[in-house]
Amino acid sequence: MAAEAILLRRSHGATALQAPVPLEAYRGDGGYEGLEKALSMEPGDVIEEVKASGLRGRGGAGFPAGVKWGFIPKETDQPKYLVCNADESEPGTFKDRLLMETDPHQLIEGCAICCYAVGAHICYIYIRGEYVRQAEILETAIREAYDAGVLGDNVLKSGFKLDMRVHRGAGAYICGEETGMLESLEGKRGQPRVKPPFPAIIGAFGAPTVINNVETLCNVPHVMTRGAQWFSDVGTDERNTGPKLYCISGHVERPGVYEFPIGVTLDELLEAAGGVLGGKALKAFIPGGASAALLGAEHSHLPMDFDSLAKVGSMLGSAAVVVMDETTCLVRAVQRLAKFFAHESCGQCTPCREGTNWSQLVLGRIERGEGRPEDPDLLLRMTANMSGTALCALADACVGPVRSLVQNFRPEIEEHLAAGRCPHPYRPVFEETA
Ligand code: SF4
Repeated sequence: MAAEAILLRRSHGATALQAPVPLEAYRGDGGYEGLEKALSMEPGDVIEEVKASGLRGRGGAGFPAGVKWGFIPKETDQPKYLVCNADESEPGTFKDRLLMETDPHQLIEGCAICCYAVGAHICYIYIRGEYVRQAEILETAIREAYDAGVLGDNVLKSGFKLDMRVHRGAGAYICGEETGMLESLEGKRGQPRVKPPFPAIIGAFGAPTVINNVETLCNVPHVMTRGAQWFSDVGTDERNTGPKLYCISGHVERPGVYEFPIGVTLDELLEAAGGVLGGKALKAFIPGGASAALLGAEHSHLPMDFDSLAKVGSMLGSAAVVVMDETTCLVRAVQRLAKFFAHESCGQCTPCREGTNWSQLVLGRIERGEGRPEDPDLLLRMTANMSGTALCALADACVGPVRSLVQNFRPEIEEHLAAGRCPHPYRPVFEETA
């Protein structure tokens, strides 16, 4: 599979820290030509171009970006907003960090095109609190853009006005959920809202709001400069289009961010990343971040795109691929994920607050050798009660790994129950904190 660098074309390698590309160099490499082109078009035509490209959200849900933009009311007295979701908190995900710290103007350009298309004059980039360096890089780049007339009262002398601000979060996973993020942006506790209404109608400060992920917006300049047809020709099929960043971590020789046309297989990604660590055999992998169902090695040939992974009960999610070798205790791995979700649940919904905690407790006792024969079925009943019964996707995020552990790897649980202990020696990488 060809792997032309599109999103990372100005980044020097997938994992290296580097000085960010300054505005002058960005423009010298064709940067902001997509914005210039968009500004010469009618806003509605820009939306149609993005729709035609098939670009789907890269933050996890995979919703078509152009369709989302089209939901913003055209005739309204209210202001409109774009909120760029840079609260990259899904465990195993670090692609947006690379995009922001190496090529911040690519994101600023994508944001500006989106704002023009939907008629928004204010853009917030909501960035996770831990991304201190990346926030500083973005602020510097935004200042550069104001000084060069790319942002401000007269964007590229078009008469379009656009202000852009970086807003730092405070480190809560739930603020990556779009309405939790809006609450946080408004200065409130970051708890998800009841939906509907959706943010396109009542979003930030009660006004129509587009929310897009960093990588999604970074794709937009390329859609504008190279065209929707080019974009839709990249990838698996017409529903899975464009370039994609995959974060690979875990038991792999060269963890990092790798760019491929969407739909690369794990086998191909592993080949690029040097293979399973130490030449061991692959036991399982998570294809799309902590919320995705675990898959076995027999699925390593599957295209990792939205639809191919959904067909086998998992998801592309944030494309955080976590590799687990033959020595991994999957019960322990999933228990740690459930513990994470229990910790990050905002507590509003009983199925989530109780279900995430009981998931980690039951998995913990299995792992300690204190499991009960009925525990696998108990886990399945619990996940059935959590699925689709809560305000946001966090409860279902916990369901993904827990249910897949029972459904796809039940013999491993049975092995724990029969032995009365964990059959895999504990190999701590980092000491767990309380
Ligand atoms: S599902 Fe969980 S995280 Fe989401 S609103 Fe309900 S309690 Fe909060």
